[in-house]
Amino acid sequence: MNNIKENIQKIKYQINQACHDTSQTYSQKNESSSNNKQNFVTLLAVSKTKPASAIEQAYLVGQRDFGENYLQEAIEKITTLSHLPEICWHFIGPIQSNKTKQIAQHFSWVHSVDRAKIAHRLNNHLNETNQQIHHQDTSLNICLQVNISEEPSKSGIMSSEVFSLAEVVDNCDKLTLRGLMAIPEKNAGEASYEKMQHLFKKLQAQYPTVDTLSMGMSNDLALAITYGSTMVRIGTAIFGERAGKIG
Ligand SMILES: *Cc1c(COP(=O)(O)O)cnc(C)c1O
Repeated sequence: MNNIKENIQKIKYQINQACHDTSQTYSQKNESSSNNKQNFVTLLAVSKTKPASAIEQAYLVGQRDFGENYLQEAIEKITTLSHLPEICWHFIGPIQSNKTKQIAQHFSWVHSVDRAKIAHRLNNHLNETNQQIHHQDTSLNICLQVNISEEPSKSGIMSSEVFSLAEVVDNCDKLTLRGLMAIPEKNAGEASYEKMQHLFKKLQAQYPTVDTLSMGMSNDLALAITYGSTMVRIGTAIFGERAGKIG
């Protein structure tokens, strides 16, 4: 269990290394000045299937952002860990529309919005429950999930749908459009990463609130950062392999 501290240190080192390599690449390519700035990458620790005690260990060494996929499991842990003042919860799993109320109540970020109905439901719940929410900032940070490798088994919108869904989210008063999330297909090469970077830059040019490209997991974090990721979602490399077949 004590590996968690070491694992986080290792991942942070890899992130810094990748940022450094990326900024060198940018300057060698002599791209425009807006592309030249050093990446700032947030580490999201994906704690699905892992106990609250493991999350608390990570928190105690400075980790603040945690990602969960399964709602009931997540709510138990969020409740158990409510004494940790700066903890920030991100929902990253597929969303059923009958779960939107609980997601809106318990999470600060949702990375997996993939249809207008979900955006509207999240927004409506936040308007209804305004008085019951304890934290001051009642707006929910939203990323749109893009099925960038166009895999039938994966959730997410096609890249051609990004701008229409972005407009829906941007028009919701309690939602803040922060960016895009993707899980590029393993073995598909770098084309999917490059497409995501391109989409992200286009979206950023249109919406000033957009600052997040959520891309990269334990096995592809350096590649994702090379293509402009600003948030990597790391589970296995922090908490170890997950038991069973889920995830
Ligand atoms: C499980 C999961 C991760 C973390 O994957 P690892 O390979 O364990 O790092 C990241 N993003 C999503 C959406 C996940 O479901």
